[in-house]
Amino acid sequence: MKIAVLSGKGGTGKTMVSVNLSAVAGRGTYIDCDVEEPNGHLFFRPQWDKPWTVSTKVPVVDQEMCTGCKNCVEFCNFNALALAGNKLVIFEDICHSCGGCVLVCPHRALSEKDRAIGTVNSGNSGDIAIYSGELTPGQPSGVPIIQKLIQLSCSSPSPVVIDCPPGSACTVMESIADADYCLLVAEPTVFGAHNLELVHQLVTLFDKPHGAVLNKCTAGANPSEDYCRAQDIPVLVSIPFDPALGKLTSDGLIAANEDSNWQTIFASLLETVQREAAK
Ligand code: SF4
Ligand code: SF4
Repeated sequence: MKIAVLSGKGGTGKTMVSVNLSAVAGRGTYIDCDVEEPNGHLFFRPQWDKPWTVSTKVPVVDQEMCTGCKNCVEFCNFNALALAGNKLVIFEDICHSCGGCVLVCPHRALSEKDRAIGTVNSGNSGDIAIYSGELTPGQPSGVPIIQKLIQLSCSSPSPVVIDCPPGSACTVMESIADADYCLLVAEPTVFGAHNLELVHQLVTLFDKPHGAVLNKCTAGANPSEDYCRAQDIPVLVSIPFDPALGKLTSDGLIAANEDSNWQTIFASLLETVQREAAK
């Protein structure tokens, strides 16, 4: 069973929820798809195996064969190609590796080469298999790294907890594509409710069963809870604002391993998710 944990913005507690769910599962898999700033490994401290390099294809031009017809320049939606005089210039840093320019060149002047964009690490922390991707700064898209993470973990033990990137962009879509259930983590603020709405629209578009985890709850107003009620989203747990939980997390400790109350709360959340997903 694959559980994707997502939130419309960073700082909601998405990674805290993900690592605690993995911890209470005992045996399972944790995948850190937040490839621009992976930090789940700080909690698990795994022994890494040899890393994989993830590469994508970028075009290479044979200037002798290029006639300067500009077909490729006009095709590229990302402005990664330009003609300077009669010489084709390729801006690899903004190429999205769609391969289209190679196909539209009428003179076969373009071919492709590999370009490294990041790495994937795997290892173990007790009985939990850990996978973590890291995008090299400046690269345009982490999607190929997430594809590699999902592919490598396909035979790993269940439950698989997917710690998604924040937001609702392509990397999040790739992270939830195979998920059986999506957990939406949100804060009790107007901003929190707005970002919850974005990820709610995304999981609805993907037709994924989903429920909410409301984090940092206080006795006051909770716009995220109001949104859940209005949209009929089940709130699986409301985690109270608790400086002790914040301290454990910022010290890189997994609350469920340190305190029996948190163990009970996250074990109950995992049970609820498994029950909801089976419906
Ligand atoms: S592969 Fe796609 S994105 Fe890259 S330069 Fe060619 S057309 Fe542009
Ligand atoms: S499509 Fe081919 S021939 Fe035309 S400018 Fe691009 S590389 Fe040169």
